[in-house]
Amino acid sequence: MNRELTHTIHKMPKIELHVHLEGSVNPETLLKLAEKNNIPLPVSTLAEICEWYTFTDFDNFIDVYLKISECIQTAADLELIGREFLKNQKKQNIIYTEFTFTPHTHYIQKGISFSAQLAALERARIWGLSELGIDCRFIMDINRTEPSEAGEITANWLLENQDSSIVALGLGGQEEGYPPERHKAAFQKIIESRYHSIPHAGEMAGPASIRGALEILKAERLGHGVRSWEDPELIKYLIDNNICLEVCPSSNICLKVYPSLSEHVLPKLVAAGLKVTINSDDPPMFSTSLTDEYLRISQAFGFGKEDYLRFNLTAIENCFLAPEEKSALKIKYMNMWKKLN
Ligand SMILES: [Zn+2]
Repeated sequence: MNRELTHTIHKMPKIELHVHLEGSVNPETLLKLAEKNNIPLPVSTLAEICEWYTFTDFDNFIDVYLKISECIQTAADLELIGREFLKNQKKQNIIYTEFTFTPHTHYIQKGISFSAQLAALERARIWGLSELGIDCRFIMDINRTEPSEAGEITANWLLENQDSSIVALGLGGQEEGYPPERHKAAFQKIIESRYHSIPHAGEMAGPASIRGALEILKAERLGHGVRSWEDPELIKYLIDNNICLEVCPSSNICLKVYPSLSEHVLPKLVAAGLKVTINSDDPPMFSTSLTDEYLRISQAFGFGKEDYLRFNLTAIENCFLAPEEKSALKIKYMNMWKKLN
C-alpha cells in the first residue's frame, strides 16, 4: 500500500458507530482498575496481560470480557474508562462515536444504579467535548443470553431517561441459540419512543437472525449484518429499506465468521450498493483499532480515498444525532477532510 494512503488513513477524520466501551478497556487501564479494586487477575505484569488479551478463541475472549466487567466496581471507574476510551478515539481522529455499553451487568454484579452509571458516562462525554473536542452518544444494550425480564429492565431505564445522551437500545452477546425474538418485549417498549433499535445480528448466526432483528425488533441499523450476503432477497430488502450495516472486519475474522480477511464479504456488500460503515467492535481484544481496520481493508481489497470518504459519510448519515447536529457534524467532517488534501 502506498505511503500517501497510509498517511491519509492515519490523519483523516473518522466516525465510529460500533464499538463496545467495556470491550475497549486497554490492558494498562485493566491493570490500574484491578490494583485499585483488589481484583485478582490470572496474570500479573502488563506484558502478560497484553498476551492474555490477544485473541485465541471464544472462551478466552469471554474470560477477558468478564474480568474487565468485574474490575469495573464503581461509577468513578466507569467515568475513567469513558475518558480513556475517548482519549483513544481522539488519537485516531475519531470525531464522533456511538459506543455500546451494557448497564444491566454493572447493576446486577456491583449494584451500581442506572442513574449513577449514566451520570458517569455523561461526565466523561462532557469532558471529551470540552477537553478533546470530540463527541459521542450511548447505545445501551441487552446481553441476549439474559432472560427477557432483564432486557425489559434496560428498556424501562431508557424510557425513564429520555432526556439523555442515549440514542438507542442494542442487543449483543452470544447470537447462536439466542434469537432476537427472546427480547421482543424490551424492544417493543422503545419502538414508539425517541430511541432507535440497533441489534447485533448476522454475525455468528445467519439470515434468520437478521430477519428476526428486522421484523420483530424493528432494527434501523444492524450490528454486523454481514451474513445477509447468504440471502439475496434479504440483501434487496436491506438496500430498499436503507438499513445500514456496521461491519467490523477483524472481529469477524477472530470469531471465524470468515477464514481470512481476503474471504470477507465486505467488497461484495459495497459493490452491491449496501450502506456500509467500518468499525472496530472490541479493539484491544481483537488486536485492532479503527485506524488498523482501514489499513487492513485497504491492503486486502484496494480501497482508496473515495471509499474512506463514503464509509465515513455513510456513518454520519446513519448516526442518530438530531438532524441539526448531524448537519453540523457533516460540515465539520468535510472541512477536516478538505484540509487533508
Ligand atoms: Zn459488537
